[in-house]
Amino acid sequence: MATAFYPGTFDPVTLGHVDLIRRAAKLFDEVIVGVAGNRDKSPLFTLEERVSLLEQVVGGMENVRVIGFNNLLIDCVREQNADTILRGLRAVSDFEYEFQLAAMNRHLDPGIETTFLTPAESYAFLSSTLIKEVASLGGDVSEFVPPKVMKALKRVYGK
Ligand code: ADP
Repeated sequence: MATAFYPGTFDPVTLGHVDLIRRAAKLFDEVIVGVAGNRDKSPLFTLEERVSLLEQVVGGMENVRVIGFNNLLIDCVREQNADTILRGLRAVSDFEYEFQLAAMNRHLDPGIETTFLTPAESYAFLSSTLIKEVASLGGDVSEFVPPKVMKALKRVYGK
C-alpha cells in the first residue's frame, strides 16, 4: 500500500493542484493532501477555509483525504505513515526551490523520497499568487479555479 503526502499552502486551491491530485490518485493507493498553516506567509484564506475548499473539491475522489498541519513537514509525513512526498513541477522556475526542499527533507529522513509530477500544459503557468492578483483587480479566473473557489474569491474581493 503506497501513500503519497501532497503538502502545500493551497491559498487557494487551483485547477493545477487538482490536476496533480487526480494524477496522483491513479498512481498511489492513497493521497493525503496536507494544507500547511504557513502563518508566516500570511495567507488570504485561513487554514480552516483552505482545508474546507479542498475537501469540497476532492470530495468525489475516494482515495484522497485532506488534513491541515502546522508542524514540520517530515514529522507530519511520518505521523501519517506516508511513503513519499508529492510536489508539483511547473516551469523551470520551480526547480531550484523544489530541489532544495527535497534535499532538506532527505537530510531529515533519508527513508522518505520526494516524487514530482507535472500538470497538464494548460496549468503549467498557474499559481495561487497569480490567481489572487488577477481576482483582486476584477479579472476573470473562472477557467483556472473550481467554482467553490470562485465564490470564495468573490466574497473576499467583492468582485
Ligand atoms: P507552497 O507554498 O508549498 O509552494 P502551493 O500551494 O503554492 O504551496 O503549491 C503546492 C505544490 O503544488 C507545489 O509543489 C507547487 O509546485 C505545486 N503546484 C502549484 N500550482 C501548480 C500547478 N498549476 N500545477 C502543478 N503543480 C502546482
